[in-house]
Amino acid sequence: MLEKIHMANSDDPAAATLAAVEDRREMFDVPSSVPLEGYPYEKIYMKNCENVIGYLPVPIGIVGPLMVDEVSRHVPFATTEGALISSINRGAKALSVSGGVETMIERVGISRAPILECKDLSTVREVLAWLAENEQTVREIFGKTTNHGKLIKYESHVVGTKIHLRLSVNSKDAMGMNMITIGSENITNHIANALFPERVEVATLSGNMCTDKKASAVNWILGRGFRGNAVATVKRDVLRKLLHCDVDDFVTLNHEKNFVGSSMANTVGGNNSHAANIVAAFYLATGQDIAQVGTSAMCLFNASKDKNGDLKLECMMPSMELATVGGGTSLSAQRGCLSITGAESSADLAKVVISSVMAGELSLLAAQCAGHLASAHANLGRAGPAQAHNATAASEGGAASSSSSDGGGAAAAAEMKMKADAMGASNKRRIHTAAAEANADANADADLSFNTPTLPVP
Ligand code: NAP
Repeated sequence: MLEKIHMANSDDPAAATLAAVEDRREMFDVPSSVPLEGYPYEKIYMKNCENVIGYLPVPIGIVGPLMVDEVSRHVPFATTEGALISSINRGAKALSVSGGVETMIERVGISRAPILECKDLSTVREVLAWLAENEQTVREIFGKTTNHGKLIKYESHVVGTKIHLRLSVNSKDAMGMNMITIGSENITNHIANALFPERVEVATLSGNMCTDKKASAVNWILGRGFRGNAVATVKRDVLRKLLHCDVDDFVTLNHEKNFVGSSMANTVGGNNSHAANIVAAFYLATGQDIAQVGTSAMCLFNASKDKNGDLKLECMMPSMELATVGGGTSLSAQRGCLSITGAESSADLAKVVISSVMAGELSLLAAQCAGHLASAHANLGRAGPAQAHNATAASEGGAASSSSSDGGGAAAAAEMKMKADAMGASNKRRIHTAAAEANADANADADLSFNTPTLPVP
């Protein structure tokens, strides 16, 4: 590896890893548009990435305040999909002014499922009997490999002479995939080498019953990482004023789309509109394993009319794999984004994710209900500087326009922030809070413009 060669000739890891990246860029003729300077390559060496040629700047937007279990949260998202953040933001506003989201998070544990290949069915029976009678021993063997992880449970799924042993671990604040893989190896080696030599072999440490990075029925039912439930009630007036739709229409659309349509498509964990959008953008911003969007974004979003005529929402996500420790969460930008959420543990982070998904689902369903999906994306997803200027000009004479309302709120927020910066520290917090609120209003107002497209839909 180039890094190793440079390290051998230098006692400055930052300079050595940068030199390796420079060599590789030259070797592979990497265009200068891929950024080089300003990244701490020494921090990711032997941890996060190999064959490094640079880094990727991705814009980060913020949503909030979003009331989650009576705590006000702000949530960062890294995305290049225009309209996504505005959309989640207006959903967050509608939820928050209606009393916020209530959550319940269960730790079901990260899972790994090695395959034990047995010589014959009588060996299968013996291994199953040993596993059933020696839970404490299995826990202890696992515990030797980690200071934080605890084995919660395991179950066996037999196919012929193969045992798919699905182990679940409480990985505390780490997502836990390395932790459980190392611990599983210790357990399966013990079974194959110490207990049943010549009769059992470890066919693989990962046999897909885990299931990692793929939507699956096993995770949908048994869960993985954290299983979350969230409930909220959106007042019908709020739904009408902020999101321009009626309770009955929303409930009907949710049924036709997220239940009938999803059944026709035969999705697994796909009873939602775009949970993956929120999960992916959040995972990218906060250093989670982005490929786990495949499992973590499984979501059932339910909507009904309550006895007061308001909109009751329920969200169930059985498989959220999350961390505040380890993996990409230790990188400084990702840590910064994590700190914005205020989450103090991985379980706390799961509350933020499921509540954000609920905000995103609410907003997108409402936009489709009101027939604003295409126009919103045309306005916020296709407006380059020229079009944005035209949109502003076109909307200045209009009534509830995106640009005028957004511009007003955002300008007020910017002005307040400038004032705050010029003032003493004691006043800064108050002014910054007011600026944040003005910004939230601006975003919510901007979304009222989903009513009035200022650009033609191509
Ligand atoms: P990790 O970064 O490999 O390990 C977490 C480390 O943090 C452990 O050394 C753990 O110590 C320590 N730790 C300190 N405080 C902790 C706390 N409060 N809670 C939990 N751990 C704490 O992370 P991981 O979660 O095990 O694995 C995540 C990584 O695995 C990601 O980079 C992901 O992309 C990758 N991954 C691996 C596989 C695989 O098959 N191996 C599959 C998918 C993803 P102890 O070990 O002493 O407890």
